[in-house]
Amino acid sequence: MADNKRDYYEVLGVTKNASDDEIKKAYRVLAKKYHPDLNPGNKEAEEKFKEASEAYAILSDADKRRKYDQFGHAAFENGGGAGSGGFGFSDMGDIFSNFGDIFGDLFGMGGFGGGRRSSSSANEPQKGSSIRIGVTISFEEAVFGTKKEVTFNGHETCPECNGTGAKKGSSPETCPQCKGRGQVIFQRQSLFGMTQSVQVCPQCRGKGKIIKEKCPNCYGEGVIAKKRTIEVSIPAGIDDGQAVRLSGQGEPGTNGGPRGDILVEVTVKPHPIFQRDGMDLYSNVPLPFTKAALGGDMRIKTIDGDVIYTVNPGTQTDTRIRLRGKGVPSIRNASTRGDLYVNFVVQVPSKLTKEQREILEAYDRTLTDIPNAGDSGKNKKRSK
Ligand SMILES: [Zn+2]
Ligand SMILES: [Zn+2]
Repeated sequence: MADNKRDYYEVLGVTKNASDDEIKKAYRVLAKKYHPDLNPGNKEAEEKFKEASEAYAILSDADKRRKYDQFGHAAFENGGGAGSGGFGFSDMGDIFSNFGDIFGDLFGMGGFGGGRRSSSSANEPQKGSSIRIGVTISFEEAVFGTKKEVTFNGHETCPECNGTGAKKGSSPETCPQCKGRGQVIFQRQSLFGMTQSVQVCPQCRGKGKIIKEKCPNCYGEGVIAKKRTIEVSIPAGIDDGQAVRLSGQGEPGTNGGPRGDILVEVTVKPHPIFQRDGMDLYSNVPLPFTKAALGGDMRIKTIDGDVIYTVNPGTQTDTRIRLRGKGVPSIRNASTRGDLYVNFVVQVPSKLTKEQREILEAYDRTLTDIPNAGDSGKNKKRSK
């Protein structure tokens, strides 16, 4: 293994005469470039990071550096058994102390990682988390808007300790393990070399502070559970699956940070008559075949109530008409509304009274000399 190992000086890009400071500087540049937190899933970066970390672990230690200068990689081979100056588990403490200040510097410069709290922010104000609440409303409520009361289990800042979690008269202390950073660097020697990871500090669980005497009211949490009821204004035009955001009404923040938001996710019940597509509504309206043939006034249901519509004589089934402005208001501008599209479905009666039959038969006899009389003839035969 030692044979294909790159020279440690080469790895860090420094000369054999490099000063401790130059080595440290070189490693810091590489660590920032290849740190796994900054290169998630990048195997090559991970290898480079390990390689650089190993080189730094050796070259930053005067004793190990001297051995390396003398014997090269062979000085740190473990094959010959423990305790021979090898680079083994016994060195972990040293390595850790060597890296500590480097990473301290790095984290002080703004920290690694996207979602993770960086060291400097452990004590900074944090926005509280958002709360999602589901609410189901009727189709009409979605069209015209509504107000809904919703009750949910949230939290409030503890009034006894003002959110610090510490008993009255005491205050939280800086965590001794992470020095208030909220995270620590773990160094591990494995078969594949050295691996290190930044983890949430186990002692303070990332808070950066330790509470010796907990507030009895909130058991040190800084918040107390509280059932809350709020009234939500749901705007006209909201659609199924959309949400209303109530900014700054969610969970309380920490260290004086602002509250999170409440997201009220709306489910809209279907309507027995209307289907919705964006701002437009659609409905199927049964049209008696006589009305379809003769035309005339029809009562048509809209979301605003019934309207009278004059059907043209000779209206065919699947004729679609548009009733302007009888759709859904725009969620941004309630004065703009979509349209209602009505699809007429011509109804043929399945039962006829004797009188109706006679009238229709008389009508049927008038059809003999129109072009589709052949079809009529067949129907006549079947009905007899
Ligand atoms: Zn800690
Ligand atoms: Zn409290």
